[in-house]
Amino acid sequence: MRKQVSKIAVCAALVQTAAAQAADPQATSATQGQRITQAGEQASIPGPDQYFTGRVRIDPVWPADKDINASGSLVTFEPGARSAWHTHPAGQRLVVTSGVGLTQEWGKPVQVIRPGDVIHCPPGVKHWHGAAQGTAMIHLAVTPSLDGKNVNWMEKVSDEQYAAR
Ligand code: MN
Repeated sequence: MRKQVSKIAVCAALVQTAAAQAADPQATSATQGQRITQAGEQASIPGPDQYFTGRVRIDPVWPADKDINASGSLVTFEPGARSAWHTHPAGQRLVVTSGVGLTQEWGKPVQVIRPGDVIHCPPGVKHWHGAAQGTAMIHLAVTPSLDGKNVNWMEKVSDEQYAAR
């Protein structure tokens, strides 16, 4: 039951439903004290074909809750895989944890991102992120919600756009 609740909460947060904002019933509070989510409690989720090109795996880290209104997810992109174009109503921070990746803001050149790089994406800026052509990439995504929404999905990144460097 517990596993299911967190999977739904995080999936919703990533795939933009009004439920993204639903308060985590297990959220930490001063009266409850610390709580540890144990490794293995949260199931991996395939990145939906509708919003990703190639093979992508989302490993939920924490859902947005009443204390911190931002979800955390580790996202693994296989070589060539990437998100569709999108914006975040409340912005996003990405921390590359392994591999080599690419990101692009609409109208600007594709940029290479590497472990330790932090991408600061302001609210409303159209962009995509993913792996390099021949190398997988993993990033931690910290994505706040605004009125229950944390992403607005747009068109997919074409092969021409992806390869333009
Ligand atoms: Mn993003």
